[in-house]
Amino acid sequence: MTREQVCKDNFETLFKSQWNPNVGNDPEMMSILQKYIFGEVFTIGELDNKTREMLTVTTLVVQQTMPQLKAHINALLNTGATPNEVREVIYQCAPFIGFPKTLNAIEVMNEVFAQRNIQLPLKNSAVTNEKNRYEKGLEIQKPLYGDEIKDSLMGLPDNVGDRVARLLSEVCFGDFYTREGLDLKTRELLVLAILITDGAENTLKSHIKGNLKAGNTKEDIVSAIIQCMPYVGFSKTFKALYVFKDVVGEPNMQQPFSQGEINPYGKYFTGTTRLNMLVQRDDMWNSSIGNVTFEKGARTNWHKHSGGQILLVTAGEGRYQEKGKEIQILKAGDVVKIPKDVIHWHGAAPYSQFAHISIETNIPDNNTTWLEPVSDVEYK
Ligand code: MN
Repeated sequence: MTREQVCKDNFETLFKSQWNPNVGNDPEMMSILQKYIFGEVFTIGELDNKTREMLTVTTLVVQQTMPQLKAHINALLNTGATPNEVREVIYQCAPFIGFPKTLNAIEVMNEVFAQRNIQLPLKNSAVTNEKNRYEKGLEIQKPLYGDEIKDSLMGLPDNVGDRVARLLSEVCFGDFYTREGLDLKTRELLVLAILITDGAENTLKSHIKGNLKAGNTKEDIVSAIIQCMPYVGFSKTFKALYVFKDVVGEPNMQQPFSQGEINPYGKYFTGTTRLNMLVQRDDMWNSSIGNVTFEKGARTNWHKHSGGQILLVTAGEGRYQEKGKEIQILKAGDVVKIPKDVIHWHGAAPYSQFAHISIETNIPDNNTTWLEPVSDVEYK
C-alpha cells in the first residue's frame, strides 16, 4: 500500500469522513501533514489507534491547540474510547500542566460530549477518600519512583520539602493516578507525551524508567515518542529519543567510520550486517580492511582465514568464539588476533549492536573458507 492509501484508511476510520486532501484554503499543507501523520507515523510501532489518539489528545491539551483538540477528541471517541476514558486522559494532565490549562481542555471536551448527546456530568471515577488518598497514592508512586522526589526536596527551609512531597503523593498519585478508567501502564505512557511536549529532561528520564516498571515495552515507549513527533516537531522528538537511549543504557554505537552498505557477503552471516571497505585488497600493503557493523544478534557463520585476521572493536558489545573454546565478550577498544586456519565466528551481543574493523593479513595468500551458520544454541 502507498502512504496515500494508508493515510486514507486511517483518516476515514478516525474522522468518519472521506479523505480529500484537495479541499479547503490550504490543501498543500493538509496534504503534507495528513500523509505524514496518518500514512506514516501511524505505521511505526505496534500501538493501537486508541492509544495513539490518547497520546495525540494529551499533546494537544498540553499545547492548548483547541481546534485540533476538538477534532482529536472526536477521533478518540471514534476509536472506541469511552467518554470516561477521554475524561481521564485530560484529567491526567492536571498535575503536570496545572489546572487552568486542564480546565480549558475540559471545556472543549464537554462541548464535544454535548454535541454527541453524552450526558454530563459523567459518573464519579474517584476511588480514594480523605482518609486513604495518601496511602493509595503511595501504593502507586513507591514501586515506580521510590523516594526520589522526597530526597530531591530535602534541605528547604522549614522542611517544606516534606510537605510538598506529601502533596505530590496525595494529589498527583492519590487524586489522579488512582482514578478508574485508565490502567497504570496507559497513564504512564500518556505522562510521557506530556513531558515530551514540555521538552522536560530529568522528569522525562525518571518517567521513562517508570514506564518500564509499569510494564510498557521499550518498543511501545519509542512508538509513543514518535506518535508525538508531528505535533511537537523533530527537535523535541530527538531530545526525547536521546533521553530514552541514555536511560535504557544501550552501548554507545558512535563509530569513527561510516557503516557503509548492506554486506554483500550477507549469505555467510546471520542477521543484518553492513560493510564499508576502507582498504581494498592490494599488493602494496598486503592487507584488506573493512568496517563491519552488526545489528543485535547478527553474526558471521563459522569460518577460517588462511592468512589470519585482526579485529579492532570500535563500538557496541560483541562476541568472539574459537571452535572448542568459550565465547568471549568484546567491547570497544578490544583487539582480537585470529591465527591462520583457526575456525571461529564473531558478531553482536543478543541485545546490542556491534562494530569492528576487520583486517585481513598476509594477502594475497589469505582466503576465507565459509562454514555452517552459528546456530541459536551455539550463540546463546
Ligand atoms: Mn573472521
